[in-house]
Amino acid sequence: MEEVGKRTCGKCTACCKTHAIPKINKPEGKWCGNCKIGKGCIIYLTRPKECKDFRCEWLKGFGRKDTRPDLIKIVLDYQTNGLLKKLFTLWEVSKKALSSPFAKNMINFSLTNKIPVCLIYCNGKKELFIPENLRLLKKVLKHLKQENIKLFVTKKAPR
Ligand code: SF4
Ligand code: SF4
Repeated sequence: MEEVGKRTCGKCTACCKTHAIPKINKPEGKWCGNCKIGKGCIIYLTRPKECKDFRCEWLKGFGRKDTRPDLIKIVLDYQTNGLLKKLFTLWEVSKKALSSPFAKNMINFSLTNKIPVCLIYCNGKKELFIPENLRLLKKVLKHLKQENIKLFVTKKAPR
């Protein structure tokens, strides 16, 4: 069994595409100009703090070793300090990755555990799935509208 906490990014550079890095004007869903895809960051030592701080769930030890984000084309993030108390976010690295069995299993896992799950597609589309019986605050609903995030209240993944 693999020791949790011993993972390294290796050849993965997936979050250098999915995540926005405002400090260097890098938008969400576009490869960073400093990224050598599959190799690493050309400004590694001086990269922004957001890059230094980000650790996806795979890197933290979640999931099997062969579900590294560059292999399944999904970056998985778990937050406990945002507008929602708990939130899984699945960021799509390449088209159709969010239609995969991995994504479907993650949505079902989250909803079963009463955790909202947000899908961010590489074309910019965003969807939030929340379990039934979870009431959202007005400020959350306002945020969803502002960000054009489509809301689904459901027991399980729709596809
Ligand atoms: S997605 Fe995870 S494993 Fe891949 S480069 Fe980013 S932090 Fe490392
Ligand atoms: S600055 Fe480096 S670590 Fe940060 S997104 Fe760009 S390539 Fe990745």
